[in-house]
Amino acid sequence: MIGDIDETLEPIFHEVVRRNRGETEFHQALREVMSSLGPALARHPKLLERKVIQRLCEPERQIIFRVPWQDDQGEVHVNRGFRVQFNSVMGPYKGGLRFHPRVYLGVIKFLAFEQIFKNALTGFAIGGGKGGADFNPKGRSDDEIMRFCQSFMTELYRHLGRLTDVPAGDAGVGTREIGWLFGQYKRLTNSYESGVITGKGLGWGGSHVRTEATGYGLVYFVQNMLEARDDDIHGKTCVVSGSGNVAIYTMEKIHALGGKVVACSDSDGVVHDPAGVDVELVKEIKEVRRGRIEEYAEHRTGSEYQADGNIWGIRCDIALPCATENELDTDGAQALIDNGCTLVAEGANMPATLEAINALHQAGVLFAPGKAANAGGVATSALEMQQNAARDMWSFEHTEQRLAAIMDNIHRCCYETAEEYGTPGNYMHGANICSFLRVGQEMVALGLT
Ligand code: GLU
Repeated sequence: MIGDIDETLEPIFHEVVRRNRGETEFHQALREVMSSLGPALARHPKLLERKVIQRLCEPERQIIFRVPWQDDQGEVHVNRGFRVQFNSVMGPYKGGLRFHPRVYLGVIKFLAFEQIFKNALTGFAIGGGKGGADFNPKGRSDDEIMRFCQSFMTELYRHLGRLTDVPAGDAGVGTREIGWLFGQYKRLTNSYESGVITGKGLGWGGSHVRTEATGYGLVYFVQNMLEARDDDIHGKTCVVSGSGNVAIYTMEKIHALGGKVVACSDSDGVVHDPAGVDVELVKEIKEVRRGRIEEYAEHRTGSEYQADGNIWGIRCDIALPCATENELDTDGAQALIDNGCTLVAEGANMPATLEAINALHQAGVLFAPGKAANAGGVATSALEMQQNAARDMWSFEHTEQRLAAIMDNIHRCCYETAEEYGTPGNYMHGANICSFLRVGQEMVALGLT
């Protein structure tokens, strides 16, 4: 069953859980990876001998810091900042920053742990890290968010470097915040070191396609899954949860390839638009007005808004959870199965619970884990780093072709590894084994570090 851990690994898992109490999301991400590794370790006993798993589960460095800032009324606030530099065996730590009130060490550790494997799948020389703060940007003015970013970077800058640690955005951190973070970095260090952060604006060192990359990459991955089965996205009905950066560009690419997205959501509710979601309207509401998805139904006849609605109850062929962790549970998975959904791919990080993944597998629904399916974002960050190192800027078309080729490689690696290890079609096992072997073998090669 998905989530069951081989008996050689069970004591290691329990020891990590014991030493990291209360970090439930980290435990979940760990269980998901470990449950795939039994057969890989049986073929590569050296990795067990060299205690690669134990070393992988302990971050190389964890930084926790105070972020004081003042609101527009002059009141003082204190938040907690994090940067978990989990593993640098493949390259400098790489991973986004999340600003969200639910952020705590367990969330950042799960994200950083996932990032190790995701980044290894891209084939680029990038290690795994993640950071953020328990800051809630909702309802804050631009000036307040800028002051927060400046205070956050005033501590973080000393831990970064283009060859050390390269952050980017995640939930609550987009190009605007990256600008304020980079501006403060530049001021503190007196150096225009573009390669120290990715997700930058096009005028100041950013890469074409970075904004679209996670969503576009996800759809390329889905297209690869379908092509491997002589099928196509064309004519498929899709449901995409969320309405942030990942969801928006996922919907855009699905429509470009002839599919139809009939629903999206935010943390307050769900929009159902049987005629097909108007992606430009979602962009206007979420990116320009920074409003709520509820406004969509006010502007679009034929669509319906359900406060606290259940997006997984809407009939679809393909479901793409692009909002947040654990948004798709067993009930959601069952509703999708009952309605004839045949493919689920994760645009967010760990949006499906282990129980949900299990239910989908049992029902024969194709499932792609986030570390493979949403790797297009960080892969394009690696392309941004390449352009920064060469002081170059590639065209949109060239960059998108590179992204498509990367997603193709990731798909092939997961698909072939799943076959090789006797679980054909199980992308979760394929992604975990393929990336673990890359990281693990490099950890052995570089000695005990
Ligand atoms: N936060 C994104 C992710 O989950 C992107 C990280 C990056 O570009 O470094 O992969």
